[in-house]
Amino acid sequence: MAVIERLLAPNSAISQRFFFLAKRFVAGESMAAGLAAVRTLNAAGLTATLDFLGEDVTDPREAGRTRDTYLELLAAIEREGVHTNVSVKLTALGLLVDEALCTDHLDAIVARAERLDDPFVRIDMEGSALTEPTLRVFETLYARRQNVGPVIQAYLKRSPADIEHAIGLGARVRLCKGAYSEPETLALQDMVSIRRAYLRFAEALLSRGTYPGIATHDERLIEAVKGYAAAHGIDQNRFEFQLLYGVRSDLQQALVRDGYRVRVYVPFGTHWAGYFYRRVTERKENAWFALRSMFGR
Ligand SMILES: Cc1cc2nc3c(=O)[nH]c(=O)nc-3n(C[C@H](O)[C@H](O)[C@H](O)COP(=O)(O)OP(=O)(O)OC[C@H]3O[C@@H](n4cnc5c(N)ncnc54)[C@H](O)[C@@H]3O)c2cc1C
Repeated sequence: MAVIERLLAPNSAISQRFFFLAKRFVAGESMAAGLAAVRTLNAAGLTATLDFLGEDVTDPREAGRTRDTYLELLAAIEREGVHTNVSVKLTALGLLVDEALCTDHLDAIVARAERLDDPFVRIDMEGSALTEPTLRVFETLYARRQNVGPVIQAYLKRSPADIEHAIGLGARVRLCKGAYSEPETLALQDMVSIRRAYLRFAEALLSRGTYPGIATHDERLIEAVKGYAAAHGIDQNRFEFQLLYGVRSDLQQALVRDGYRVRVYVPFGTHWAGYFYRRVTERKENAWFALRSMFGR
């Protein structure tokens, strides 16, 4: 992973040559491209969450620049009237440098977001070494402002307790399967168990939680969630489905047609290597496509 990150370092010759591969999953390298993608989604009845790509920052000045970019992004969202909120990764805001610095940066972003029509700020969840500090920063912020919420990964063995805790707080949770490679001691490894856990958490969030984000492209889970909501009289506007930019656009449209709320995660920026790597490795067809494209050019 570190090797790939180095090879694809932002603006390196290799990175520029291979952006055509990432383009399927990344709206573009500029903020304008991210906003343009949101406008297109809005026109089709979808809402969005914009993510300025970046992670694992170790330089405090870079963490400060990420905060400033988010502040600029929020001003642009307000000015242009697009329907979107934002997602942030705490390691991009300096979590690996200093937790207090990261909390201050997040606070500035969440405070600025309060003035928007969709004031919510989602904190993405990263690898398991960061679950605890990420949830700690979330709770510190949530005690001050409620327009912020965490992600809970269904594959983590600690998640039953985290789900109950988030429900108790009244926090808005995004539920996903989990995208990082984790050891068996910490995470479920087989898809049957992960799906089972996902559905159990989704049902708890739908019946007792606050406006959950059901983040998956897994049609079996989506159908089960729809069925559970219908059977329990849970209105379509009490939750939303969330999908990734460039993944199953057909499904995104079908959900909108059926009257569900759909939010698309739209990443942009030059630091696309880590995000692209996760999208490629979670699906072997993508890895083959990437390899063929790299060597077929
Ligand atoms: C909105 C959103 C936010 C997320 N945020 C986080 C986060 O903060 N932290 C985290 O760890 N993970 C996050 N994830 C990723 C998530 O954990 C999974 O890794 C990812 O969604 C794949 O799992 P799946 O549930 O979609 O089902 P899968 O069983 O992996 O996929 C179901 C179907 O979806 C399609 N599909 C799925 N992934 C791809 C892909 N990469 N390329 C092409 N087709 C694909 C295929 O048709 C596949 O058959 C997020 C996912 C979404 C949708």
